[in-house]
Amino acid sequence: MAKQDFYEILGISKSASQSEIKKAYRKMAIKYHPDKNPDDKVAEENFKKAAEAYEVLSDENKKARYDQYGHAAFDGPQGGGGFGGGGMNMDDIFSQFGDIFGGGGFGGFGGGGQRQARVKGSNMRIRVKLTLEEIAKGIEKKVKVRRKIQADGVSYKTCTTCNGSGQVMRVTNTILGRMQTAATCTSCSGAGEIISSKPNGSDAQGLIVKEETVSINIPAGVTEGVQLKVGGKGNEAPGKNSIPGDLLVLIEEIPHEKLKREGTNIHYDLYVNFSEAVLGTSKEVETVSGKVKIKIDAGTQSGKILRLKGKGLPSIERYGTGDFLIHINVWTPQELDKEQRTFFEDMMNNENFSPNPNTSDKSFFEKVKDMFS
Ligand SMILES: [Zn+2]
Repeated sequence: MAKQDFYEILGISKSASQSEIKKAYRKMAIKYHPDKNPDDKVAEENFKKAAEAYEVLSDENKKARYDQYGHAAFDGPQGGGGFGGGGMNMDDIFSQFGDIFGGGGFGGFGGGGQRQARVKGSNMRIRVKLTLEEIAKGIEKKVKVRRKIQADGVSYKTCTTCNGSGQVMRVTNTILGRMQTAATCTSCSGAGEIISSKPNGSDAQGLIVKEETVSINIPAGVTEGVQLKVGGKGNEAPGKNSIPGDLLVLIEEIPHEKLKREGTNIHYDLYVNFSEAVLGTSKEVETVSGKVKIKIDAGTQSGKILRLKGKGLPSIERYGTGDFLIHINVWTPQELDKEQRTFFEDMMNNENFSPNPNTSDKSFFEKVKDMFS
């Protein structure tokens, strides 16, 4: 069966504005609402169709895709329309009503049913500062947090305002007849229960603040600004059925004195003196994963980069490890005594000291060596 056109369902033209789309849907939703058409399968089908059409046309992105590709835009697993299994369910539709009708929206069938909210505690946020060395290896950090938890000895009783359902029903008269609307119970915030007694020292919600040590596993390769979540380690909420919030951990990177991070690569400026560059030497370099001895070839030019493969940082997505790049800088002497000055003056016009990028390192090295011996 070919699917009916969304514009046709709502009885509007393709050029309808968002407010016309909303108005048309509102009309359909009222006309076919299950409360007004009990046990009417056709009305229910029309009600769902209208909701589906509105879901797409009220969203500029989905509407653009629908306008271009029609229903095919939402076929298959990549469709993202969420209608694959044969239409939206009633909860989806009713949850859409807040936007359309304002306030709490319609109730479901037979007066709304039990839609108790599982109250969740608030999230907590902390910052954790890490050195590059810690980031390289990954680390378990223990942090002290002060979180709200339920005090011992709190007892609850069923909320009398909503009789435990968490919702209160309101009947309003509109030009189209009586409408039943559901709103979250304000006495219990939708939990369906309220505190009957609580110990001294706890707050109005029966919560106390407690300092706890939380262990956070930080994977290797995290970057500044990454947020990790430790589930359930935020503040608790009141109520037997509540669930605690989460602890959100914002990663900060402590700037390294000598190393510069660039993604998974690390850059290091190594300074060698004039003679070391000329004669060659070996140096010990401190990487993020320990000391590495490197060889500086004789005749090394300033600006040369040595690459230590795999000595950088691991990728947090776990595809490989970056490199440690050593940038060689030849330190030019700035203060000379008389003897040194004479030496360099003598060398000034020596052809071995003339820059010649085409000269092989080898011959450059040998000539310079002879000169100093
Ligand atoms: Zn209540």
